[in-house]
Amino acid sequence: MRKPILAGNWKMFKNTQETRELAAGLKSKVAQAGDREVVICPPFTSLAAAAAAIQGSSIKLGAQNMYWEDKGAFTGEISPGMLKEIGCSYVIVGHSERRQYFGETDETVNRKMKKAFSSGLLPIVCIGETLAEREGNATFKVLERQLREGIKDLAAAEAKQLVIAYEPVWAIGTGKTATPQQAEEAHAFIRKTIAGMYGEQMAGEIRILYGGSVKPDNIKELMGQADIDGALVGGASLEADSFSKIVNY
Ligand code: PEP
Repeated sequence: MRKPILAGNWKMFKNTQETRELAAGLKSKVAQAGDREVVICPPFTSLAAAAAAIQGSSIKLGAQNMYWEDKGAFTGEISPGMLKEIGCSYVIVGHSERRQYFGETDETVNRKMKKAFSSGLLPIVCIGETLAEREGNATFKVLERQLREGIKDLAAAEAKQLVIAYEPVWAIGTGKTATPQQAEEAHAFIRKTIAGMYGEQMAGEIRILYGGSVKPDNIKELMGQADIDGALVGGASLEADSFSKIVNY
């Protein structure tokens, strides 16, 4: 049985004061969600405020990015140890906005993912096709490449803890959600590809989240699909009311 994960990606929103308010609101609304994992991923500068605000609840903390070295002359970067120290247990790796605007590649995704595991963080690895790729019938080819390159070389103990987020780029922040059938088709393909890489048993344990305009009114149907194990939520995670409705779908 795969425990669902509902994760909020706050992107570049919420200063420390706003973070305290949102996290406190969530704490009161989702604290009892024991059968599912709730993760919030604020910007780096708000992680400490969020960690303090969620203390005493089961809400977990995640970061939106990290670098693959422990320390050094890497101006502007954040190490996995820094994230651990501040209270993170998850880290998003390879979000499409990072691939699109900040030059992330399958190779950097792979380095970050492996470093996250060896540092005691659980990576949420994002993959997904663009609209042009979908319209060019290249969706499966793109997903397969992102998986074969992005999540290669894991040890068995790591592989089963991996979290994948399938986020069709055309559905992120656009209000256009993949239909539950489109999402399920992609999720089933992802699980099959992972089975080819790490075996059926491992693939059966890995959680695959859907991301792309998830809202309180579409979460239930998405979660009803066999291979959808949760959601990575952008816009709708920025208000306690909408995110708690998603968590309590
Ligand atoms: C995301 O940022 O990962 C995302 C899915 O955003 P949104 O829910 O706003 O589409």
